[in-house]
Amino acid sequence: MPKRLTKAQAEAIYAKLAEIRPDPRTELDYVNPFTLVVAVALSAQATDKGVNRATKALFTFADTPKKMLALGEEGLAEHIRTIGLWRNKAKNVIALSKILVEKHGGEVPHDRAALEALPGVGRKTANVVLAEAFGEETIAVDTHVFRVANRTGLAPGKTPDQVEAGLMKITPAAFRRGAHHWLILHGRYTCLARTPACARCAIRDLCLYCDKTDPSKPRPSKAAANARTNVSAASGAKAKKR
Ligand code: SF4
Repeated sequence: MPKRLTKAQAEAIYAKLAEIRPDPRTELDYVNPFTLVVAVALSAQATDKGVNRATKALFTFADTPKKMLALGEEGLAEHIRTIGLWRNKAKNVIALSKILVEKHGGEVPHDRAALEALPGVGRKTANVVLAEAFGEETIAVDTHVFRVANRTGLAPGKTPDQVEAGLMKITPAAFRRGAHHWLILHGRYTCLARTPACARCAIRDLCLYCDKTDPSKPRPSKAAANARTNVSAASGAKAKKR
């Protein structure tokens, strides 16, 4: 059985993360729900900074599905060539813009099933849009959230869906709106994939990760550490699907 935090411990973790970042926000730039969908779809296997660089000019003239369709796949591709998988992403953004125009009156639907039916939009992107654009209490699980939830013991799970369900269960209502941002930012800047910065981590005393660089705690055997790395790598690969 994986180690799991209690509700009280989970609350203490969120309280600490909230103290550090009282007003957590996405680092992706967007100007409306449509550009949010596009930015999140473009961010698969790319950094938020790289996406922001590419969309800065793009969103000044292609900020609606109709305008994006007018730009066309080739025109869009010119703007996003610096982002990984740009060909496929250009195709998806044009296809989803067409669906938004034809089926949703040019608006982003406030509906999970309709969002997930859009090309290039999976559960993770739908969760981000539902939370950011419509204020719903969803917790999107990307590779950072997946790693932090597993390492800390907040919500151990083998798949992003399992982790999401665990987080929804253990996260107090007061912290649900910020949970995705706190966990993603903690994973991006402190609980790094290869070398977590445990020594300067604000939630170190609550975290259950047994590979923490703490001299007072026993180090795992090499075999155990290797096994853990393999499981984490396999699960992380699954988490990359958006
Ligand atoms: S103590 Fe280490 S493993 Fe635990 S959350 Fe902090 S950085 Fe991550």
